[in-house]
Amino acid sequence: MNYFSTRNKSKSYTFQEAMTLGLAPDGGLFVPEFIPKLDAEFLDKLPSLNRIEMALEIMQLFTGDEIDRESLRAIISKTLSFDFPLSKVDDDVYSLELFHGPTAAFKDVGATFLANAMGYFAKDAKEINVLVATSGDTGSAVANGFHKVKGVNVSILYPSGKVSELQEKQLTTFGANITAYEVKGSFDDCQAIVKKAFSDNELNSAYNLSSANSINIARLLPQMLYYFDALRQFQKSDKKIVLSVPSGNFGNILAAIYASKMGLKIDKFVISNNLNNSVYNYLKQGEYKPVASVQTISNAMDVGDPSNFERLVDLIPDIDELRELTSAFFFNNQQNKEYLAYLLENKDYLADPHGAIAYAGLCKEIQNGDDFIGIFAETAHPAKFSEVYSEVQLEKLTMPKNLERYLDRVKVSYIIKGDYESFKMRFLEITPKV
Ligand SMILES: *Cc1c(COP(=O)(O)O)cnc(C)c1O
Repeated sequence: MNYFSTRNKSKSYTFQEAMTLGLAPDGGLFVPEFIPKLDAEFLDKLPSLNRIEMALEIMQLFTGDEIDRESLRAIISKTLSFDFPLSKVDDDVYSLELFHGPTAAFKDVGATFLANAMGYFAKDAKEINVLVATSGDTGSAVANGFHKVKGVNVSILYPSGKVSELQEKQLTTFGANITAYEVKGSFDDCQAIVKKAFSDNELNSAYNLSSANSINIARLLPQMLYYFDALRQFQKSDKKIVLSVPSGNFGNILAAIYASKMGLKIDKFVISNNLNNSVYNYLKQGEYKPVASVQTISNAMDVGDPSNFERLVDLIPDIDELRELTSAFFFNNQQNKEYLAYLLENKDYLADPHGAIAYAGLCKEIQNGDDFIGIFAETAHPAKFSEVYSEVQLEKLTMPKNLERYLDRVKVSYIIKGDYESFKMRFLEITPKV
């Protein structure tokens, strides 16, 4: 499979190049040359396949001969080391729980695949130094995914005092190949430092820098796997399959759309947003206007200019086709809390704020519906957002074991000022050249 920048279809890249570069040199995002269609025979037996073997066939179409089959199977086994259960919430309505991984968010899947794929390519090349700026969740999934992956060192920059206690523990307690930089500044400062590092040739050449942020194609593609895994049982259903995804940067929903283009039965996609609704506006008005983000209680979706929008219109340039395939809804904090409370009181289901937005969108879509099966993606464990629940019912909220284990670990971070020179000085001091 070849990869191209969304902004230039004349220069092709390998999977390894697209993954290592992260962002295309022209500022575009890497996309596969085409979305391969699974053959009818494979789709027919989809529901009965072993999940690892199924995932192997799917991912191999995107990695080609660049990763040998056994190694790819090992990478996938690590990636799919936990389940994606469908929890019944109502008749024909399910929560697709994507939070049973090590950091309790769906980002574990993409981050684990990326980490191990990078480790695969690093084994016979120079060591790789991954830099990542985080406002919280991405960093913990990345830290966990890369922990002890040979040949890859990770530097995580996070804004001091601006992540939750649990998130900070998840960022700063791994040790080994994971180093946390606690930046006396904002998330934007962290991002600016990382950007500057990539354009600093001295650092780039001596340290073989790479990125792990959410635009990386090797984080996006494996996200198809949980949709294949969980929804294949409906492959032959007579009912319409409606999938609602709480969307921020639109990587999760795009992976689901890729899966459906490959042949997985999903009839309708619901784009569920909080007040950050620039894609909703695009669908309504026909014009895309990126805006500054607004802060909400579903903060992982506080994105005013979703990076994967560029990939979405690359795949589906015709706006009417996109309108046909999707519905879009958005909700404010008040509505978000109402849906949380409704789910808990009437359906005995405790959602997190992001999952509740997805449920809200699903409800809007299917309220006058015919025969459908509705599924909403529940993207994080509610205990990660305990601050939100004071108005709901706190006593239902218990910390899952995989999160609890972080709490009594000891934080280790390098405190730096929010400017590039402070970072560079410390980085040069503690990072071995490759
Ligand atoms: C990242 C995240 C989202 C948004 O996913 P995108 O792929 O950016 O659209 C939704 N919910 C949670 C909990 C997240 O961490």
